[in-house]
Amino acid sequence: MEERVYNFSAGPSQMPLPVLEQAQKDLLCYPGAGASVLEMSHRSKSFDAIIDQAEADLRKLMDISDDYAVLFLQGGATTQFSEVCMNLAHQGDTMAFIKSGQFSGKAMDEGARWGNAVCVASSADEKYTFIPEIGEGSEAQPFPEDAKILHFTGNNTVFGTMFRQIPQIPAFAKDAKLVGDWSSAILGVNIDVRDYDLIYAGAQKNIGPAGVTVVILKKELLDREIDPVVPIMLRYAPMVKARSMYNTPPCFSIYVSGLMFKWVQEQGGVAEMERRNKEKAGLLYDFIDNSGFYTNPVRPGDRSIMNVVFRLPDDQLTADFVATAASKGLINLKGHRANGGCRASLYNGMPLEGVKKLIEVMKDFELANK
Ligand SMILES: *Cc1c(COP(=O)(O)O)cnc(C)c1O
Repeated sequence: MEERVYNFSAGPSQMPLPVLEQAQKDLLCYPGAGASVLEMSHRSKSFDAIIDQAEADLRKLMDISDDYAVLFLQGGATTQFSEVCMNLAHQGDTMAFIKSGQFSGKAMDEGARWGNAVCVASSADEKYTFIPEIGEGSEAQPFPEDAKILHFTGNNTVFGTMFRQIPQIPAFAKDAKLVGDWSSAILGVNIDVRDYDLIYAGAQKNIGPAGVTVVILKKELLDREIDPVVPIMLRYAPMVKARSMYNTPPCFSIYVSGLMFKWVQEQGGVAEMERRNKEKAGLLYDFIDNSGFYTNPVRPGDRSIMNVVFRLPDDQLTADFVATAASKGLINLKGHRANGGCRASLYNGMPLEGVKKLIEVMKDFELANK
């Protein structure tokens, strides 16, 4: 095998070797099936067991009670930007959004296609370098009493910020359901599912394979009347009824997600993942803060433990650093084009050694270029 690099991509992201090895081992012939998961019918007994086990393991990892349904859907987290609105609000209804970064803004744009999307908090004025309180930011409107949802992005993948506490819906907004996009931190930080009406997450960040999106939603939401215009594929209820298999599901991605759930369990669960992620991010932030060369623009209390953004003194040095790191086997450190600079994504699949190696390379680069 060629040597594997440390992949700091924001997604798809590095996965643990044992997960990949298990997938490799089973690739040609899944035990008891006589065929690969890639070839298997989603109506087969073997696949039924795979999706059941994946759901059971995710429920255990996140302590998801029976009041919630768990779905494995296609279309990415981006499809959820619209699907959430179409299922929790009628066309034209008011919905509240917190704008804390790139994806939260995109979610609000999709909300605006469906209804009256109101920004109730924003950190745009300060380039998304902190997590805004409700009412904060020049764009923020008063919280609408008739809001059907409050949508927020738990971890801001592009700008490297993270909510430490969930936003509070004002008591007067009685119908508002709390919706969290946790794409880039699910299973990497503790999330109390009971605080939410709905959580969604694209799997390619912290779970691993692209092609599947996890949705966890309160079952009581399934009884709502949905506007007739909403396509069947964008309705939760038929998907729940069909156990995510109304149509052909992303079988292989669900299977690999299931392997990842098992791996997280073996490591000690989400609490242990969070401990490791704090340790990894803490090392890197400490190094950046003590350096006169690298900087992190985020308010310290709001820093993400999954995506660490940092800057070098200028664009040329940034490009040189990204290239130097890549030549040493540390790839995808270039920041998102909306934010510039560098970004190291430290998802569950990134071992501590990778972060230590990154700090070493950063140190050497600083010495050579200061
Ligand atoms: C990556 C990401 C998305 C978009 O995910 P897709 O699966 O590519 O649609 C949405 N929200 C957050 C927080 C993300 O990190």
